[in-house]
Amino acid sequence: MAIGSPFTAEHELFRKTVRDFAEKELLPHQEKWELERAYPKEIFKKAADLGFLGITFPEAVGGSGLDAWFKVVFCEEIVRCRMAGLAMDLMVQADIATPVLNALGTQAQKEEFLIPALKGEKIAALGVTEPGCGSDVANLQTRAEAQGDDYVINGAKTYITNGGQADFITLAVRTGDEGHKGISLVLFPTATKGFAVGKKLEKLGNHSSNTALLFFEDCRIPKKYLLGEENLGFTYIMKNFQGERLVAAISSYASADLALQDAIQYTRERKAFGRRVLDFQVWQHKFAELKTQIEAARRLTYHAVTLFNAGQECTTEISMAKLFAGDLAQRVAYECMQAHGGAGYMAEYDISRYFRDIRLITIGAGTSEIMKEIIAKRLGF
Ligand SMILES: Cc1cc2nc3c(=O)[nH]c(=O)nc-3n(C[C@H](O)[C@H](O)[C@H](O)COP(=O)(O)OP(=O)(O)OC[C@H]3O[C@@H](n4cnc5c(N)ncnc54)[C@H](O)[C@@H]3O)c2cc1C
Repeated sequence: MAIGSPFTAEHELFRKTVRDFAEKELLPHQEKWELERAYPKEIFKKAADLGFLGITFPEAVGGSGLDAWFKVVFCEEIVRCRMAGLAMDLMVQADIATPVLNALGTQAQKEEFLIPALKGEKIAALGVTEPGCGSDVANLQTRAEAQGDDYVINGAKTYITNGGQADFITLAVRTGDEGHKGISLVLFPTATKGFAVGKKLEKLGNHSSNTALLFFEDCRIPKKYLLGEENLGFTYIMKNFQGERLVAAISSYASADLALQDAIQYTRERKAFGRRVLDFQVWQHKFAELKTQIEAARRLTYHAVTLFNAGQECTTEISMAKLFAGDLAQRVAYECMQAHGGAGYMAEYDISRYFRDIRLITIGAGTSEIMKEIIAKRLGF
């Protein structure tokens, strides 16, 4: 293990496996899958077979029981498929829709939903955001009314990643009064009568990702699909957000680093005024500064991972990592596209896709404003 690095030889071996998967199995299909706004579902199975979906999950549910640094490695390397959309879909499956199921699920729930998800046989989504509320989770209106042994669900969810291809949704619903105390989490099989997927949502970027508007009309599910306790859903969602935000922070600095490498490569080859663009000191300094900030984002995130891994309360550190890495990734996108000149504006250069894709990172999984709200509250304001 190199001094100051959390990664062992095993982590590095795993890094190579993920990198090979991203560069050899996914990247060659990039153009087609981005254009078609879809990819084969078998990707989930392939990822599962390589152990990517259950990295930190216990072996009892089909996971590998590995430490969180393997997860960091996965997130750092999967961005090399250069499709933030597809990478995000895999992360939703492994890090966003399923950890809460592992933490709170009954044995029967794990057998029906979690184990097949980690095998890549069932696709999972997390449904929190609604047409009327996103940041303000406590205000969600999709209602699950208790009727005998069932819940009857009515409402809508939007911008749901994997939503149009999911077999089940870890769904936030209102089971009680208005406000954060009346929310529950249920496991919702999408084969349920009354469930419908709206028309495909066209997005600025993340084109390969499956993002959907979902409708629930008198959908009846058994109460045994309740996760944890009724009306404690808000707390569960907030806890679950921590893992999601860590993954977002890692994706931010890792993809920013890739974009920077692209810009350095481009300016090394591109000539202007009889010199390589990289020979202009302005670009050398710009890249030096960006690299410094990427390393700062990486180290801030590693610090949060260390605390998270140790089971310590680290909401502040995770919020800071997501805020800093997410905002930085926007700057990297802007500067690295600028370094490409007109070529950067062309679809054939990866930097233009990165520029579009990365815009999501300060919006999804809690906006930068919400990260600042969380940090400010913890500063006692
Ligand atoms: C491609 C994509 C994929 C997504 N995937 C999922 C998914 O899988 N599951 C899911 O549940 N959701 C998903 N989302 C939704 C995402 O989490 C929300 O878009 C996000 O939380 C913001 O909510 P909103 O869009 O309703 O914006 P709003 O909450 O309406 O915010 C609008 C603006 O107001 C600001 N704002 C809000 N509150 C405050 C405040 N207190 N102080 C200052 N400013 C504030 C926001 O920061 C933002 O700038 C996805 C979104 C996108 C675009």
